[in-house]
Amino acid sequence: MNVYDSERMYELMQPHGYIVTNNYDDADLIILNTCHIREKAAEKIYSELGRIVPYKINLYKKGKKLNIVVAGCVAQAEGKEIIKRQPMVDIVVGPQTYHRLPELLNTISNTSERIVDTDFPIENKFDELQKLRNINNPVAFLSIQEGCDKFCSFCVVPYTRGAEYSRPVKDIIIEAKDLIKQGAKEICLLGQNVNAYHGEYNNTVLSLDKLIFEIANLEGIQRIRYMTSHPADMTEGLIKAHGEVEALMPYLHLPVQSGDDQVLKAMNRKYNSTEYLSIIEKLRDVRPDIAFSSDIIVGFPGETDRSFENTLNLVEQVNYSQAYSFKYSRRPGTPGSIMQGQVSEDIKTERLLALQEILDIQQCEFNSAFIGKSMEVLIERRRRKDNLLVGKSPYMQAVHLLEDKYDIGNILRVNVFAADKNSLKAKSVQLLSKAAN
Ligand code: SF4
Repeated sequence: MNVYDSERMYELMQPHGYIVTNNYDDADLIILNTCHIREKAAEKIYSELGRIVPYKINLYKKGKKLNIVVAGCVAQAEGKEIIKRQPMVDIVVGPQTYHRLPELLNTISNTSERIVDTDFPIENKFDELQKLRNINNPVAFLSIQEGCDKFCSFCVVPYTRGAEYSRPVKDIIIEAKDLIKQGAKEICLLGQNVNAYHGEYNNTVLSLDKLIFEIANLEGIQRIRYMTSHPADMTEGLIKAHGEVEALMPYLHLPVQSGDDQVLKAMNRKYNSTEYLSIIEKLRDVRPDIAFSSDIIVGFPGETDRSFENTLNLVEQVNYSQAYSFKYSRRPGTPGSIMQGQVSEDIKTERLLALQEILDIQQCEFNSAFIGKSMEVLIERRRRKDNLLVGKSPYMQAVHLLEDKYDIGNILRVNVFAADKNSLKAKSVQLLSKAAN
């Protein structure tokens, strides 16, 4: 979501003459787009600001101005505190108000005013942003839903991103068509809780599965993905769509967080391990080659050795193609942060290592199983060092080709000849679909 938001901020600033630079010395504007998910997120921002501020001072001495903006979920959570602790910051803007950036920058131009804009505004951010999409990548993110009403007890998202909001179907389709026209072959539908999508459509409400059917019907679309999903919102219709929509890729990120029912209850996850496993089974029934990834937290308050064993058992049963695993860390203001039974750091570390050992084996085995097989790959980029092509498999694996003759945006049939934990190596066999011009 932050990658998407950063792209949108760039698109917003382009008509005002801004282009991207990788060099702080060249910048007139630095936007730190922050994420609050990881531990000590705020402290990391202040330390990054400490590195940026000298550039501002240097430019100021030369009579030039560098504006510093802090955006994203840390901006939303910290608000005025950011300007209090770092007075060189010019604007603090939340995830729901960043579409106002050009206007806010205009307001502060030639003044020493500082602005904090972390409202949940009445105007629709997407109405302001829609006209500006400008992609140069065959894979495009399309935000269809924001916010979350689930209130998992470890998570800050409902507080920083606000209540669930689904964009109307009409707007999404217009944007999807535009992205395809600009060369997108793959569209990834985004939302904090994307499968809770319920967008307005001709006076009715469309769920995510129906929206996927609508997008799959658009001419030129080759691949559809969606993330991030909550298991409790995996409806029968959505599961069925995985068996019926060819463009819907056989890969699903479905965070389980824990394999223990007591811990899941304490996390307020609204499903138990049996229900989770049943969803996995149903998805495998309709799409046998589907691969799963997950987020897993170890050391949530109250997690015992036995509960952790239950998580390992679930991981063994699902057999993930990849997964993100973390030690639980307290987020101020969340129910989990004040729960009894906090687990010591040593135990969390021990459990994380044990879990990651299994996940690494699963990931290696998943990738190795493709050696000697053919698959379709969407070419996404060239390696900086040697210009060779890198693409993505239907199962989200990075695929390296030892050749450079195709274009970004091509879809190729390839033969896989090597694999490691993080990627596959393959040789092209056939061009299946050309890049859009
Ligand atoms: S569903 Fe996801 S975004 Fe929503 S509260 Fe739970 S972890 Fe956070």
